[in-house]
Amino acid sequence: MTPYDAPSPQAAPRNPAALMDGYGRTVTYLRLSVTDRCDLRCVYCMSEHMTFLPKVEVLTLEELDRLASAFIGLGVTKLRITGGEPLVRKGMMGLIQGLSRHLASGALEELTLTTNGTQLTQFAQGLAAAGVRRINVSLDTLKPDLFRKLTRGGDLAKVVAGIEAAQAAGLRVKLNAVALKDDNAAELPDLIRWAHGRDLDVTLIETMPMGEIEADRTDQYLSLTTLRSELESFWTLKDLPLSTGGPARYVEVAETGGRLGFITPMSHNFCEACNRVRLTCTGTLHSCLGQDDASDLRAVIRGGASDAELEDAIRLAIDGKPKGHDFLIARSSAPAVARHMSTTGG
Ligand code: SAM
Ligand code: SF4
Repeated sequence: MTPYDAPSPQAAPRNPAALMDGYGRTVTYLRLSVTDRCDLRCVYCMSEHMTFLPKVEVLTLEELDRLASAFIGLGVTKLRITGGEPLVRKGMMGLIQGLSRHLASGALEELTLTTNGTQLTQFAQGLAAAGVRRINVSLDTLKPDLFRKLTRGGDLAKVVAGIEAAQAAGLRVKLNAVALKDDNAAELPDLIRWAHGRDLDVTLIETMPMGEIEADRTDQYLSLTTLRSELESFWTLKDLPLSTGGPARYVEVAETGGRLGFITPMSHNFCEACNRVRLTCTGTLHSCLGQDDASDLRAVIRGGASDAELEDAIRLAIDGKPKGHDFLIARSSAPAVARHMSTTGG
């Protein structure tokens, strides 16, 4: 086992009434960032010399479990663990094993993970054993040199081996690729073909203005509407009626038989059906990815709140979930939100 001790009994749902926001949307999906640290430094995500949070500011594994369990008690049925890189956090597998009790109880329908894949050869079996069925792996290129450049030092072979280990462990793997105009746009059809040939779904993501980075985002931004038209010049894309309550829209590529998703926060509005909230590794609840709204749940639990008081704090925060976001990439403009994606979790 890990240093992390057995889960608290507060796991059982206290109040099954749905978590509903002020606009009548029910929140059933929590993304939980377990660390702001990472073994890579992707150019669109982090600056080269990041200052990471002092340990005392980051939730302990017990605190992460308590908060996640409180949300599950309030009707969250889908939990995605993210970061930073979740698998670099010490004791991570213990947390996942602990949280899997909510799968066993039926309170949680799905426990998933978003990872850069570098640690998967070590952890894939354990994830599968804990009841994780699907994971997202971020991969923007199959060119080793470009991968090294985009991640500032990463080793592509490790990630590919990690994906293979995950598939061998029985995990369903979806690739997330950020579309970057100059760096990988031309290669994306090859990446999609490669992935579909290995039974991997792919989701393309537009760059979002989150946190200060060195690069000018207007130079990186590629509209997926444009990209989709290009793909349609040689592929047949069939819309799929699949909705996750999130920003992704899915198509099937007739020629490859694989599924392709488009996440278009910049060129599309998807807020009406939003069912998700995000909790950072410092216990800050962001009920909207693109707004600066924040509720400090760490202060609530470190202040000695009872489970009932924690529940009240969560309900209050969800009640104030903003109607929508307002991303805009304009040259020289400040990021829409100051926090990095690695803090909020993707
Ligand atoms: N380290 C893990 C990974 O890379 O999958 C999990 C955290 S990472 C922040 C989650 C996702 O956010 C990744 O797919 C990454 O490509 C994406 N991401 C990071 N910064 C972004 C940005 N500025 N715009 C769009 N996507 C971003
Ligand atoms: Fe790390 Fe993921 Fe951000 Fe890349 S996108 S720097 S892997 S947290």
